[in-house]
Parts: sequence; structure tokens; C-alpha cells
Amino acid sequence: MEKYDVVVIGGGPGGYVAAIKAAHLGAKVALIEKEKLGGTCLNWGCIPTKALVKSASLWREIQHAEEYGFQVNEAIVNYSKVIERKDQVVATLVAGIEGLMKKNKITVISGIAKLAQLGKIAIDKQDGVTEEILAEKIIIATGSAPARLPIPGLDNPEVLNSDSALALTRIPESLLVIGGGVIGMEFASIFSAFGTKVTVVEMMPAILPMVDDELIRRFRPMLKKEGIDILTSAKVKEVKKESNSFKTVIETAKGDVEVITNDVLVAAGRVPVTVGIEVEGLGLEMEGRAIKVNEKMETNLPDVYAIGDVVGGAMLAHVASFEGIVAAENAMGHSSNMDYRVVPSCIFCHPEIASVGVTESEAKEQGIDFVVSKFPFTANGKALAIGEAAGTVKLIAEKATGIIIGGHIMGPHATDLIAEVGLAIKARLTGHQVAETIHAHPTLAETVMEAAHGLVDKPLHLA
Ligand code: FAD
Repeated sequence: MEKYDVVVIGGGPGGYVAAIKAAHLGAKVALIEKEKLGGTCLNWGCIPTKALVKSASLWREIQHAEEYGFQVNEAIVNYSKVIERKDQVVATLVAGIEGLMKKNKITVISGIAKLAQLGKIAIDKQDGVTEEILAEKIIIATGSAPARLPIPGLDNPEVLNSDSALALTRIPESLLVIGGGVIGMEFASIFSAFGTKVTVVEMMPAILPMVDDELIRRFRPMLKKEGIDILTSAKVKEVKKESNSFKTVIETAKGDVEVITNDVLVAAGRVPVTVGIEVEGLGLEMEGRAIKVNEKMETNLPDVYAIGDVVGGAMLAHVASFEGIVAAENAMGHSSNMDYRVVPSCIFCHPEIASVGVTESEAKEQGIDFVVSKFPFTANGKALAIGEAAGTVKLIAEKATGIIIGGHIMGPHATDLIAEVGLAIKARLTGHQVAETIHAHPTLAETVMEAAHGLVDKPLHLA
């Protein structure tokens, strides 16, 4: 029986990164994946949605081509081509991961891993053969799957989830999205750009609960302008299929309302997957449906680590990858801890939204004495030049020290701009230090510098 130093179960951004890191540290590594390398992120999550976001944003720009001096006659969407491009992007990246596995001499085993005994893993392969391997250290990175809501009618196979919505080769005429979180709002934005009449239903009082309240207040009218209807504090009671449409009954403060749409998409959270892991037999400690870990990504079992969506918390690819690095380092005898202070959260809608650190209300709740500075994209040359001037940069700093503790950006390329704020928080930089850093002109990043000036004194380019 082949023996490995480190065996990783699951080839998503948590698992494959952990495998690479362990190999870099000199381990003999095996990675077991039951479907496709890259996991949810590459195949059914981050990457395919962003490929669609790109097509959607290009289509939005084409609608405004005349403003830029172009006359475009008879522009039409060939949605099958849009999907084909998305699939090509995914295939290229999956091939890239395969290449990385080879380069790092990681043995990839295709099949369902079964962990019933410490140190030994059985793999049910597609050809019906079961292979057994031995592992000094095990990293569980089995990810998550869409949550199933106990709502009558949602078990209809024609109801979409994020996986099937990505595979659609037609544009829905009208769509009800159940769930106003990141995934739901991204699909709402994508389909709305292509002309779908979208309604979003959210049970909570606000969509995107992780985002700063002020940004959400500014975002809601923009969604309305895009033609996206939002129902908050609204609970879906039932979804009924009627010939070629769905009738959804929704409980609201004003009584029940019925929404008729051609399609319904459920995007109401994800749950950890522990397929193949004998949780009870092994005595693996859980926290709800997630595997319980400490800051070293250790489970309660010796030499067994868990990372990524399967441990719950912020279910994000970059968190999974970071946890993978920490687990691999600890498995290889180092001593690394997770630091969740700086976890950027990005929403690829139109405009983009990105957050890192505390929100204003969190700062208040935590009793922090803070200052806030805002700078609008309308006062930024680059934003005007590219025709995307809607949005704001908001920075939060400790009043006494000036150290930046939160950043919230809504606007063009917010999801890229947030990296600078993340670095500032991690390195405990003050507003003054960011303001005195020369930012290239004309760039969108100048908005962060201007907001930093506002923490110290006043933004320079604001009347
Ligand atoms: P996964 O990526 O879920 O990988 C787990 C892997 O384990 C899977 O490939 C699975 O097949 C395999 N597996 C499970 N059980 C076994 C077993 N017993 N044996 C062998 N293999 C097994 N995050 C972001 O940061 N940015 C985004 O823009 C973003 N967009 C998203 C959009 C959508 C529509 C969705 C659904 C998710 C999105 N996410 C995004 C979340 C992101 O995809 C996840 O946080 C990330 O994939 C988690 O990585 P992971 O490695 O923990 O798990």
C-alpha cells in the first residue's frame, strides 16, 4: 500500500493549494478528487460566474456605444457563445491546475475518498476498483454544496440552483432569485444585463448583510435603475409550476404576494459536505454541519486537518486557500495560525462592491472611537474617462491612532482596489501613511488615496 506524507481530500481552492504548499515543503503528496480539479470555485463558482460577469458588462457597454462615439447596428446576444466562452475559461484554468499538480509531483487520484480509519484512506474509483493508501497527515477539503430549503415546490428539478443556472444556454425572460446574498445578487446582475426581468426575494431586512449599511442604501436605487426588483423581509412560502411559468407565493409585511416568472433560482446559502468522511465513527468533532477546527486548522483528531467551506465561516475561495497553506505548514511541522482580521469580501455586481475590516456599525458595536472618510468616484478623472463614475470609497480609522480598520468600496474595479485597503489594515497603516504614498495618475486607486487624505484632513479633489 502506497504511503504519503500528506493526503488531501478534495481538489478545490482549499485542497489543491494545500497540496502545492505541502509539496513545496518537501512532502510526498496525494490529492483525491471525485469530480474536477478546481472544485466549486473553478468549475461552478467564482470563475464561471466572473466569465459571465464580463460578458454582461461588455453587453451593458455596447448598449451605450453611442456615448463613446460608436454606432453599433443590430447588436444581438448569442448566449450559447457566452456560455461557450465561460466553459473555455474554466477548461483553461482546470488544465492549469492539472499542470501545477504534475509540476509539483503531486499524485492525483480520481475517485471518492472514504475516511473511516485514521491514517488510511480508501478511494472508490470510477472503474469500480477501490484503492487504499496510507497517510501520515490528512487534510479534509471537501467543500460545500447548495443548501436545500424546505419550501414546497422547490424540489421541482426545473428550479435552478447556481450549478444549473451556469449551464443554462438560454436567457430567462423573467427570473425570481431566492436569496439576496452574494451569489443571488451576482446572478441577478448577470441576467438583468441580458434583459431578464429579475426579482430578488430576501428573508432578512437587507440584501448583502455583510456590506456597510450606507453603501447598501446607495446601491438599492442603482438596482432599481437596472430594473431589478428587491423584496426584503420577505419569505417564500411556496413555488408552484404552472404550464411554462412558476407562481411563487411570498409572505411580506403587507401580506402575501404572488410573483409569476419563467424561472426560479435558489441561491440561499451553502452547506458543508462531508461525503465519505465517517464523522461519527471517527469521533470527528463538528460545529453544526461544519468540521470544528482551531486556528491551526487542526481537528480534534490527531494528524487530521480541515480547511475551506467544510469548516464553515466565510465560505470564500481565498479563505479556503489561505487555510490550506496554514494546514499544510502545520502538517509539515511549522507553526502557523489563521488570521481572519483581513478577509476581503467582493460582490461582482454592477457596480462592484468590496469590503474589508470592520463596517461602521461593527465599529460602533465594538465601542471603537473612529473617524470616517469618503471619496466619490465622480471626483476621479479615470472613473469619468472610463464612464463609470457611480460609487464611493469609504475608509474607517481609529480616531486616536489613525490606523485604518475598515474599507468599503462601491464602484468600478472595487474588487481590485480593496487589496490596498486589506494591506493597510494587515500592516496597521495609518490614513496618513496611505495618503503620503504616491498613487499613479490617472488611476482609480487615487480614490483610496483621496479617502485617506480625508482621514487626516480633507480629500484634495473635493469641493
Ligand atoms: P470546493 O471548491 O467546494 O472543493 C471541494 C472539492 O472536494 C470538490 O471538488 C468536491 O468534488 C471534492 N470532494 C468532496 N468530497 C470528496 C470526497 N469524499 N472524495 C474526493 N473528493 C471530494 N468565492 C470567492 O472567493 N469569490 C467568488 O467570486 C465566489 N463566487 C462564487 C460563485 C458561486 C456561484 C459559488 C457557488 C461559490 C462562489 N464562491 C466564491 C465560493 C467558493 O467557490 C468556495 O468558497 C470555494 O470553492 C471553497 O473551496 P473548497 O476547496 O473549500 O471547496
